[in-house]
Amino acid sequence: MLRAEDIKKNIDLVEIVSESVRLKRSGRYLMGLCPFHGERHPSFCVDPERQLFYCFGCGAGGDVFNFVMRLHNYTFHEALSFLAERAGIREVVDERVDFLKGLQVLFQKTLLMSKRAKAYLKRRGIAPDRAGEFGIGLCPKNLLEILRRKNQLLLAERSGLKEKFIGVFQGRLTFPFYDRSGNLVGFAARRINGQGPKYINTEETDLFKKRGLLFGINFLKKRGKVYVVEGYFDCISCLAAGIPAVATGGTSFTADQARLLKGFDRVVVAFDGDKAGRAATMRAFKVLVACDVYPYAIFLPKGEDPDSLVRKGRERFLCLPERDLFELIKDTIGRLPPQSAVERLNNLASFLRDSPSALSKLLLERIKGAFGIKIKRQAKKQLDTETRILEILLSSRELVEDLKEKGLLEAIENPEIREALRYFAEHKMLPPASAYMNLLARATIYPASQDLKEKAIRYLKRKRACKGL
Ligand code: ZN
Repeated sequence: MLRAEDIKKNIDLVEIVSESVRLKRSGRYLMGLCPFHGERHPSFCVDPERQLFYCFGCGAGGDVFNFVMRLHNYTFHEALSFLAERAGIREVVDERVDFLKGLQVLFQKTLLMSKRAKAYLKRRGIAPDRAGEFGIGLCPKNLLEILRRKNQLLLAERSGLKEKFIGVFQGRLTFPFYDRSGNLVGFAARRINGQGPKYINTEETDLFKKRGLLFGINFLKKRGKVYVVEGYFDCISCLAAGIPAVATGGTSFTADQARLLKGFDRVVVAFDGDKAGRAATMRAFKVLVACDVYPYAIFLPKGEDPDSLVRKGRERFLCLPERDLFELIKDTIGRLPPQSAVERLNNLASFLRDSPSALSKLLLERIKGAFGIKIKRQAKKQLDTETRILEILLSSRELVEDLKEKGLLEAIENPEIREALRYFAEHKMLPPASAYMNLLARATIYPASQDLKEKAIRYLKRKRACKGL
């Protein structure tokens, strides 16, 4: 087992930090620009003696583990193997991972030799020679015999394949699951014909916790857009058509799965368009919001799933309009009778209030602002929310960048303000005073925004006074 203490002894925090931050000595410390928040004057401080860092700007701090976890969005275990490699400490490879890797090779070979399985894949629109690209395999009908001969039954059991269970696995198509470090940790298996449940998985082990894994994520680079679909074949059809997708594999979407998607720029949930699909989408949205990921969704035409639609032409899938969370809420609420609408809104509001993410807070504000309109005056209420958001935004460039990153700038109704803020965020610059004024001037084209203008100007004056501009 790798031990954090062993690794720390062999690693220099200064060296690791220096790869992403230019450090300058200042007394017994080293200072630089903080990589965790945007700044112009260094407030990020490294103590080489104690091997600790601290940022006076944003309060980030800790040891080398905290640093790489935060910088790369790693879990502790990922940080452990990353730093172990840097320290030249070899991780003892879990023999189960090697065993499962061996099974995967066997399953893929078996598939290529099976006419029946290849015919099945062809019917599902997957060219058999491409099956390997997506990890599809076939469990041989004599797996139990093979494992017994190799004396691997015990190892198989520890890897989630008990002797009793192997019989059910045999003859099924297999789909491999990989963890964040790229280790194969378990399989799902689909029956081609015969009896038994349509899908089964290898049993849960400390390596294989299916609720925290997403099928297909190992095939993607973690950036750009990603679609979250339900089925393995949905995912594979998308991938085969060059559409980035991951599959939940039938389980309901979890926070651990949401966290896996944090590196992507845009997360689009693509479940069925029916009532159950919409409900599942809303549930997934809640999970994503709680993890600070701003969600989008597409809804498939009746009777279609991503698999069937993509096979009719990828454009038909890609051209479906993406709706964001707020639109969806507006939609749902709009269709309910007033009594249930209020109830639904209250539920939603209490969920958002309890959720710890920054995104939840902002959404709550927006919902409060938007739905007050039913009871109170429309324009006024809307503008007040906008004003508040603007006020907060003008106070901090990091906030603007943060919002952009989370896709939350879309939450700003006024297109002029939205575009200007997006520009500031994209150019990672502190808007100069003239740009602020420009922005405010443009905001005046909106009715009743005099109020907003005045507020923002007062605010700016105050800020300028503080900074001695
Ligand atoms: Zn900082």
